[in-house]
Amino acid sequence: MGFIIIIISIIIVVGYFIKQDLDKKEYEEIMSSYDKASSYSTSDTTSLITMSENDSYSSSGLFSTTTDGGYIINPESSFPLTIYGVDEATIKELINKLDNNESITYIVSGTNLRCKEIDDYVEKFKPHYLKKIEKLKDSSKEWAGAYGKYREDLLIKFRDQAIKTLEIIPSADLDVLFEYEDFTINDDLIDQYGSENLRLYFRYANRFDNVIVISTNHYQQDGFEQLVEVGLAIRGLDIELSDIWSYLKTLSLKEMNALVSDIIEKPFSRKNKAVEFLITVPDIKTRLSKIIALHKLFQLSKLPNEFVGIDLGEIHKTWMYENSIANLISNTYASSISAISSAAFDKEIDCAWEILTMDDDITCKYCKDAALKSYPSNKYPLVPLHIGCRCTVVCK
Ligand SMILES: [Zn+2]
Repeated sequence: MGFIIIIISIIIVVGYFIKQDLDKKEYEEIMSSYDKASSYSTSDTTSLITMSENDSYSSSGLFSTTTDGGYIINPESSFPLTIYGVDEATIKELINKLDNNESITYIVSGTNLRCKEIDDYVEKFKPHYLKKIEKLKDSSKEWAGAYGKYREDLLIKFRDQAIKTLEIIPSADLDVLFEYEDFTINDDLIDQYGSENLRLYFRYANRFDNVIVISTNHYQQDGFEQLVEVGLAIRGLDIELSDIWSYLKTLSLKEMNALVSDIIEKPFSRKNKAVEFLITVPDIKTRLSKIIALHKLFQLSKLPNEFVGIDLGEIHKTWMYENSIANLISNTYASSISAISSAAFDKEIDCAWEILTMDDDITCKYCKDAALKSYPSNKYPLVPLHIGCRCTVVCK
């Protein structure tokens, strides 16, 4: 029970402190009392840039630059992240989004940025992962004789098993991070259509022939309207009748009769007969638009000819990859900032510390080992222990 109260109070404290500025002196005291448990922090720091008072970057407040053109977006947190491939304006935008808990996926896909700590992780653990999968294939009796869907299912199982053997397991789509890497495939498309539009488009890319119903005030309504504007989708009356047919079949017999009441001698008594007739009426779409909200219907367009060679499956993978990178940066950033806030608060408490893992089936050995140790009151442990680490620090 006491344990639960400690966890709850830590959550409250983190929530309270996360948006607070940390006094520089206090911060230095905290940092000097850390037990530097993290093996993945980098610091090739040359200068610290304090943002102007007009900037609203309340929780981190700072970024710094590296000698080789990178930016450290949370240099004073417990787990600095180093970003390459973007300019200073983008870094400010990125930090702003992160501090406001907003998605950074479109920045990731629009800039092809790299995060050093993620790249380091992938470089170190990917070979082990791939090797383990090959071993599992070799030792599997089913693999050699399997093909098609069965083979795919086996591979999913092997990937899962391989991930669980890794010493460090970030909370992320690791199979995506390890296996999808073509990061620039969509640059031409992004220039032409904008990355926000493309992400929405590819999310539904397996539904070209289907009509998508987006009700008014749906959170993606604006997005779909944008798609129409840039020519990636069509809407309402522009959709072929044959394509909206499945949607029309949901009309009642009464509604069908009402649609054509002025051109039929007597109402249809059976739905199939009505349907057969309706489809032959030349202005049926205009008639329909009077009783159903055709503007809610959207349909994705095929990509234009110049992009015909593009493999949609590959694009979808790129999108998943960018999503994983964005999530990993966001989660690590958030936990590294809140860890410092907790540390500032915990400093006032006199007790020994321990690391609390999520204790689930992807909790890694690295974190479990760290959680077995006890940290005396003057050796406050530093979390996150690695990118995508979900550990917290509690009073023992
Ligand atoms: Zn871990």
